[in-house]
Amino acid sequence: MKLFEKKKTDEYIIIIGCGRLGANLANTLSANNGNVLIMDKTKHAFRRLSQDFGGLAVVGDGIDLDAVQNAQIEKASAVIAVTNDDNTNIMIAQLARDMYHVNRVIARLYDPERESVYRDLGIDTICPAVLSAKEADKLLGKCTEEESK
Ligand code: AMP
Repeated sequence: MKLFEKKKTDEYIIIIGCGRLGANLANTLSANNGNVLIMDKTKHAFRRLSQDFGGLAVVGDGIDLDAVQNAQIEKASAVIAVTNDDNTNIMIAQLARDMYHVNRVIARLYDPERESVYRDLGIDTICPAVLSAKEADKLLGKCTEEESK
């Protein structure tokens, strides 16, 4: 498979899961000149990509070795696993890091209690529940600050 025409950067980022978060990420990274391949097991999920998305959208299962090899995972500078299943995301992250030696690996986790476990394994995690709580706290702090003026 031939990947894209070279963009301004040499980065090649694979995103697994084209849901609300994955599609958003793919649109943003592609708009910033990244070479992006996004994979989802459902073709319908790609409706979320913007019309300007300049990467590749591939139907496949992120834990299927043939699918990730076809995506040339060994050439990826980063793999971001953002399916709606924590175990799947961790499995993809471990596969990318341990089997294909991908440098940057990030997994989305719904369960905040598992975050530290995976951090200890050297896998970066995004935990929307934790990020939302921090953001809410920040916004509340802002309100309190403004009220006290
Ligand atoms: P969301 O919950 O909106 O972030 O959507 C998660 C996306 O991950 C959905 O589009 C699912 O089809 C996709 N997904 C779930 N499991 C897999 C998998 N094993 N491989 C690829 N995509 C997946």
